[in-house]
Amino acid sequence: AVVLGIETSCDETGVALLRWTPKAPSEGLLAHRLFSQIRLHAEYGGVVPELASRDHVRKLLPLIRGCLAEAGLGVADVGAVAYTSGPGLVGALLVGAATGQALAWSLGVPALGVHHMEGHLLAPLLEPQAPEPPFLALLVSGGHSMLVDVAAVGSYRVVGDTLDDAAGEAFDKTAKLMGLPYPGGPALAALAEHGHDGVFRFSRPMTDRPGLDFSFSGLKTQVLLAWQRSDQSEQTRADIALAFEQAMVDTLLIKCRRALEQTGRRQLVIAGGVGANQRLRSALLEAGRVDGFEVRYPRLEFCTDNGAMIALAGAIRLASGQVASTAATVVPRWDLESLEAVG
Ligand code: ATP
Ligand code: MG
Ligand code: FE
Repeated sequence: AVVLGIETSCDETGVALLRWTPKAPSEGLLAHRLFSQIRLHAEYGGVVPELASRDHVRKLLPLIRGCLAEAGLGVADVGAVAYTSGPGLVGALLVGAATGQALAWSLGVPALGVHHMEGHLLAPLLEPQAPEPPFLALLVSGGHSMLVDVAAVGSYRVVGDTLDDAAGEAFDKTAKLMGLPYPGGPALAALAEHGHDGVFRFSRPMTDRPGLDFSFSGLKTQVLLAWQRSDQSEQTRADIALAFEQAMVDTLLIKCRRALEQTGRRQLVIAGGVGANQRLRSALLEAGRVDGFEVRYPRLEFCTDNGAMIALAGAIRLASGQVASTAATVVPRWDLESLEAVG
């Protein structure tokens, strides 16, 4: 069946059509489109929830029509609908849930609410060399920093979590305090390319004691102090960006190695927006070569929010016999560990 995936949990409207084949999910992707609201929110320095909901209303149906046209399909070819039902902004989630349920009801097909972070976590399965559980997942996005032990699809144990800022949030806040526009992650990473190694050095938070939890707010404060005391030149901004990125990547790397050791997993999956960071990707790949574990990540555009990961997660759950949802209810706060295992 062709599954329509809808993502509206935050500030991107994502839509995808996936023809579900359990053997090779990557071959079933028929079309995917994304509209990012970044420019809409940039002047406020962050996401404005009410503006986000309204823009999802404007963009969702045109994106669905665009995907159908690209795939050469009519709306009647949609065999199931999967939409993000949480976690996220309640108003934004409701747009996707209501649209998804209404469409499915009118077509007489099943609709399923999907956990946004399960979507991120399963996104690497859209690549030709798909990882197979069990594996360890590093989920680093705008709202989350988690190490998840994945025994099977749907069977998640969060072995490490952030005590304060998420990794993406730390990138965004650090960028903002040095005057970079929202969202700062990609801009800060680009700036770091021009940084000189060793001019600044920030600590690797919580790596000197046992445990798998993260804390990034102290790192942000270190950057603030360094920036305020500096000459605030373009070169200094790049030097600080590099030192921040190095501290962040090192910290994530140390915790990944520790978690792989503790769980005994031999495969590491990286997902979420920060997974698009090249320094992080190459550091983990290199560690994998040295330590002998496999590293898998989604293509860059499927690291950040997208409809394809939601179509995939929904397809896997519907194929496993999970009963469709019938109400357009959403779950703004939703624990990943509470999901039901598949199969
Ligand atoms: P969540 O998934 O936790 O609800 P979200 O959906 O807002 O949060 P994503 O869309 O997965 O998060 O990722 C966006 C985050 O990724 C932002 O914080 C952004 O700055 C960060 N990000 C994107 N690209 C990069 C990069 N190349 N380097 C570092 N951070 C990046
Ligand atoms: Mg986003
Ligand atoms: Fe996300």
